[in-house]
Amino acid sequence: MAETAKILCPDKTVLLPDFDAGCTLADDCQPDEFQNFLDKHPDHFAISYINCSAAVKAKSDLICTSSNAVDLVKKLPEDLPILFSPDRNLGRWVEQQSGRKLTLWPGRCLVHETFNEESLIKLKIKYPTAEVIAHPECQESLLDLADFIGSTSKLLNYSQKSKKNTFIVLTEPGIIHQMRLKDPSKTYLEVPGIDGCSCNECPYMRMNTLEKVSKCLKEMNPELKMDEKIRQMAYKPMKKMLDMSN
Ligand code: SF4
Repeated sequence: MAETAKILCPDKTVLLPDFDAGCTLADDCQPDEFQNFLDKHPDHFAISYINCSAAVKAKSDLICTSSNAVDLVKKLPEDLPILFSPDRNLGRWVEQQSGRKLTLWPGRCLVHETFNEESLIKLKIKYPTAEVIAHPECQESLLDLADFIGSTSKLLNYSQKSKKNTFIVLTEPGIIHQMRLKDPSKTYLEVPGIDGCSCNECPYMRMNTLEKVSKCLKEMNPELKMDEKIRQMAYKPMKKMLDMSN
């Protein structure tokens, strides 16, 4: 996310409280391996989910978010072969929704892989009227049990507008705080990780603690710097996404 801010706003100062706060999706898609993937599919158009490194963005033809991925794929010529990276679960869901066959990179989000069917089914039995709302980064077997699938912002909107009062939320539980702020009268249930652990909380996001944010703002450090050539290359597929979304 910090790199994305720098790609789009090169003249602004971008601070990152903890440089170790990465993402398993970015870790799973290293630029050299991604280049090999592109080389094996030279006639393909490469779409990358925004949760990837600047170096991978720079090698991509188009960037997408979980919110616009389906619409963007539908806008591409029907005979254009497409590579989708790095999240295989999101890619599989985009395939289903768009009716297009995609060649998927086998990356995954550690957090969304942690949810399991058994925990979800137990919650469904305990709260039979609850609606299951899920992020498309979840595994297919879980998405099959969901009443609504969407990006973080769509899940937030949906939980507000739905007439239901209880929701089982299948995504990083940080969003539940936002849901409670928007409508505290409703009940939002987390799905525990395997064996009830709390590894469904993103360890990377939680590295950016309030103390680190405060220190970083006082010291204006650490600051994210980016090679200008990579930035310009990464900007092109980002700009294409923005143009295609208008
Ligand atoms: S929840 Fe964490 S690991 Fe998963 S996509 Fe978001 S930042 Fe990456």
